[in-house]
Amino acid sequence: MILGRTLENWYSSYPLIRDLVALQETTWFNPAVAPVAESIGDVGLTAADVADASARLTRFASYLRLAFPETDCSGGIIESDIQPLPQLQNLLSERYGQTLPGALWLKRDSHLPISGSIKARGGIYEVLKHAEDLALAGKLLTLDDDYAVLHSDKARAFFGQYKIAVGSTGNLGLSIGIMGAALGFQVTVHMSADARQWKKDKLRSHGVTVVEYSSDYSVAVAQGRKQAESDPACHFVDDENSVNLFLGYSVAAERLKKQLAAANIAVDAQHPLFVYLPCGVGGAPGGVAFGLKLAFGDAVHCIFAEPTHSPCMLLGVYTGLHDEVSVQDFGIDNVTAADGLAVGRASGFVGKAMQRLLDGFYTVSDEEMYSLLALMESSEGTRLEPSALAGVPGIARVLGEQQGYLARAGLSSQAMAQATHLVWATGGNMVPSDEMDAYLAKGRQLLAKG
Ligand SMILES: *Cc1c(COP(=O)(O)O)cnc(C)c1O
Repeated sequence: MILGRTLENWYSSYPLIRDLVALQETTWFNPAVAPVAESIGDVGLTAADVADASARLTRFASYLRLAFPETDCSGGIIESDIQPLPQLQNLLSERYGQTLPGALWLKRDSHLPISGSIKARGGIYEVLKHAEDLALAGKLLTLDDDYAVLHSDKARAFFGQYKIAVGSTGNLGLSIGIMGAALGFQVTVHMSADARQWKKDKLRSHGVTVVEYSSDYSVAVAQGRKQAESDPACHFVDDENSVNLFLGYSVAAERLKKQLAAANIAVDAQHPLFVYLPCGVGGAPGGVAFGLKLAFGDAVHCIFAEPTHSPCMLLGVYTGLHDEVSVQDFGIDNVTAADGLAVGRASGFVGKAMQRLLDGFYTVSDEEMYSLLALMESSEGTRLEPSALAGVPGIARVLGEQQGYLARAGLSSQAMAQATHLVWATGGNMVPSDEMDAYLAKGRQLLAKG
């Protein structure tokens, strides 16, 4: 029995669960998706909140360029480029046996400064927000000061009185840990069993306390929450529920809008934009998608990608049960090579906020992510970690769909010929070269087997 019902009973009400349990690659287009004007209110946050987050990041820019000289070239703004993927698009067309009209692009959050993953948006933003709150209350700073003053022993001694805790599969811990330690906070990262050794080593080299668990992400988060509850000086970064993380991610959209305009890429009803976002607990893709809906309205279509072994958001939104259900409830093991995506229970906050704003969800096997990792490298010269490839099959899933989705969304073949498909690459450039070589070898081997 699962939540009071037999498996057969679940299958008859929700037939796709059968495919999820069989670990088959699955695509589901959301019949409840609604126009932005109707559904954006579900989120409980507004464009003003995103603008506030953006302004905060700008206030911190003068500090960031001192503390992290690699951000100097962008004026202390943590942002990534976009890259066209014409060769990969051709190879995908062959691989999936489909014509793939439109243009395929990559958003290179894999190469974000400071922590080399999408977590350099939300994770760093939440640490900065917390630091600003403390510094303003402690009279270390006023809103009009040059925040470069935070790059000082005095500021580090001030923040040293405070602690930050977080539970993570790796990349969130890396972002919170590197940023928190630079400001002077005492940071503890509670790491799940699947976290890579190099991420733990890197954090320890920054003076971060790493606590390791033999269980998965949910347990690491619960332990972080527990540590913070018993200590008033400790701020817990709640990956499952944090509005600040979500807002930190959402700022990406207005910046993307400028990048697309600079590349002469139109986004409107006749030039739709499809964005494919790898999803773990949901905060990063949810926050980015919220920002995208505010920036582009109904012209943007957001689709989440998950590993076949961890389809928590698909399961939660499809059943409407959100965080009341986990993939483990159905015997799905939540074991995947895709760092950051090994999450068995989705964020209830994100699932409920975004359930009418997201167009679709699909799953990808680990083998496919590895194969695409090798294809991406050979065709475009870009090296990514496995999870960052989850968005690549999205273009073929949308163009090959047989659920009536494109017709429902009013997307003609003419509009689809003018569409832009953006793969959100979420991590990769901090992966040590020997690990990257092993990923590539595995991917090439899978490609050779066909
Ligand atoms: C965290 C992460 C994601 C997904 O973010 P969630 O907020 O957990 O959904 C995707 N890719 C990578 C590489 C990540 O580290």
